Amino acid sequence: MTHGLTHLLGIAPLSAAEITMILDLADSYVDLNRSPVKRSEALAGRTQINMFFENSTRTLVSFEVAGKRLGADVINMAMQTSSIKKGETLVDTALTLNAMHPDLLVVRHPHSGAVDLLAQKVNCAVLNAGDGRHEHPTQALLDALTIRRTKKRISGLTVAICGDIAHSRVARSNLILLKKMGNDVRLVGPPTLIPPGLDAEIHHDMATGLKGADVVMMLRLQKERMDGGFIPSEREYYYRFGLDAAKLANAKPDAIVMHPAPMNRGVEIDGDVADDLTRSVIQEQVEMGVAVRMAAMDLLMQGRADTRGVMV
Ligand code: ASP
Repeated sequence: MTHGLTHLLGIAPLSAAEITMILDLADSYVDLNRSPVKRSEALAGRTQINMFFENSTRTLVSFEVAGKRLGADVINMAMQTSSIKKGETLVDTALTLNAMHPDLLVVRHPHSGAVDLLAQKVNCAVLNAGDGRHEHPTQALLDALTIRRTKKRISGLTVAICGDIAHSRVARSNLILLKKMGNDVRLVGPPTLIPPGLDAEIHHDMATGLKGADVVMMLRLQKERMDGGFIPSEREYYYRFGLDAAKLANAKPDAIVMHPAPMNRGVEIDGDVADDLTRSVIQEQVEMGVAVRMAAMDLLMQGRADTRGVMV
């Protein structure tokens, strides 16, 4: 298969055809992951280093599981105890690692743009596992795979992305992907949490924002990125923007509920809605995450070598 994927830094650089190619390959990895022996040799002999400069539980585990199931040698760097703490710059760390000939760096960083910078300094593939409030491409791809498998299509849908849009890389990557694939996207939240200039219908009221939606995507209130008072109180926020059964009733009767996790129950989503398996696909999102990451890493490695191990 020939394609132009050398890094995966965001959804913005991808074409609709490339997105479809990743999702199609991910479908086959879903089958592999559901079989008793979860093993492919696609990354055998390859070295994958996970560099997470920001706390993560599920995403780090998901990348580790994905790499191991593809047969890669996976190393998790503990960035909390790394030389970064001794004052080494991100670029110096990257150059040091680069000298060890990794094939793939999976990087999460609190600053928007840091992963792009790193990608310019190394000659292996770089996969952005979330940079600041910029992009989180594998989250948007796993969300797209979840939607496509549930709704049987990934175009012509009305998707309401709700909550803390301003601080969310998940919202940004999803907005770009869903528009590229031909969906109507609404952003729903308080004016303080929706930045201007985004290419979507904006709603400040859950009832109108969710009306007739096929997909309701809730976001975590990202307090760690807030440097002031964006909401009057969590109680008030839940009352106006927290997803409960009454607000969900505005969406289509078969609308699905999504959340990238970690969830704040009783803040952006009611626990009963999150746990209602007739509507909530939150666990499927986690499952699809491993498959999408396997597909993305497989394609990155295919794009990097004409024969195994020879960089192009
Ligand atoms: N896990 C997602 C992220 O890393 C969403 C979140 O943290 O709320 O952006």
